[in-house]
Amino acid sequence: MAAISLQHVRKFYDNGFHAVKDFNLHIEDGEFVVFVGPSGCGKSTTLRMIAGLEDISDGNLQIGGRVVNDLQPKERDIAMVFQSYALYPHMTVRQNMGFALKLDGVPKAQINERVDEAAKMLHLEPLLERRPKELSGGQRQRVALGRAIVRKPQAFLMDEPLSNLDAKLRVEMRASIARLHRKLGVTTVYVTHDQVEAMTMGDRIVVMKGGEIQQVASPMALYERPANKFVGSFIGSPAMSFLDGHVLGGVVGGEGYALTLPTDMAQRVSGHEGQPVSLGLRPEILSLLQPGAVADNGAVLRGVAEVVEPLGAETIVTVQVGAQNIVARLAGNVDIRAGQALALVVDCSRIHLFDAESEANISLD
Ligand code: ATP
Repeated sequence: MAAISLQHVRKFYDNGFHAVKDFNLHIEDGEFVVFVGPSGCGKSTTLRMIAGLEDISDGNLQIGGRVVNDLQPKERDIAMVFQSYALYPHMTVRQNMGFALKLDGVPKAQINERVDEAAKMLHLEPLLERRPKELSGGQRQRVALGRAIVRKPQAFLMDEPLSNLDAKLRVEMRASIARLHRKLGVTTVYVTHDQVEAMTMGDRIVVMKGGEIQQVASPMALYERPANKFVGSFIGSPAMSFLDGHVLGGVVGGEGYALTLPTDMAQRVSGHEGQPVSLGLRPEILSLLQPGAVADNGAVLRGVAEVVEPLGAETIVTVQVGAQNIVARLAGNVDIRAGQALALVVDCSRIHLFDAESEANISLD
């Protein structure tokens, strides 16, 4: 096991494209770190540089305290798991899992021991004599994981390993990988574009966009304290809604709404007086104003229900406020029809304000 450290790492592809820009990150020994971001943000490129499958154009990469910039992949003592399982079709599960060890000249008895151990962890024991075509997608991906485990590497590097699986299997495999990590404690870097995978698996999440790190934090810290509008919108489902507005005298307001800011937040954003901001609202900080309840107008948004999606346990409602839409997560048993006028109470202590230009979160303490 080993720490992984990237200092000022950059990647320029041969065509001059700057895919990764000044990437700085220290991954602790045994940590599970997830790189997440939209397609093309540079997460696979960064992982491939750690693996040694892609040259590093600039900067310094250390694994286990030694600089590995110029080492071949096999000299880095890491194991990769990809989206495509890349199993040898003519070999059994046992042979596939043991193949890298065989190439390394590990004695047969030891290979069998390590394969049996990994097969037990991954519940593959009954399948060891089958060939890949006799396995389901989830079983094949477990074999690919097993092949990585038997090598006892210093780190696992995983690039969208679950994206070929259907939704139910993905949930199961997510749990298997998390369990394996708890058991083995091997440093793991995991790439995904799926924010749910990132939130449920990572000790820390690295959110990327356009080749740059946007924020590095634990799942809940990212959710509750997004550094900028991009992170706020990328993490969370249903996504955070935004309303254009201005800050004036402790109030954030725009077309069709005005909310009173908590005193401490009003102080923090006082330097932005009169300037345009984007108000960020998570769906769960909105609730329906109960009939007969006294409304504190500084904490109420009024609008019209546009789309009502009853999901059983909850109802997701898209509400038009002025000319903009927001999304509210309401109780499953609310009785709302599209076109109905609504009053929503806002928990103003949980709103976010983003500078309209820089998109930085200006409301955090
Ligand atoms: P995805 O989720 O789609 O795999 P990603 O975040 O992993 O996306 P990368 O594969 O790291 O993205 O690619 C980052 C950027 O670098 C993209 O804009 C991509 O088009 C570009 N890129 C990747 N490989 C090359 C290459 N060999 N030559 C030039 N540009 C490349």
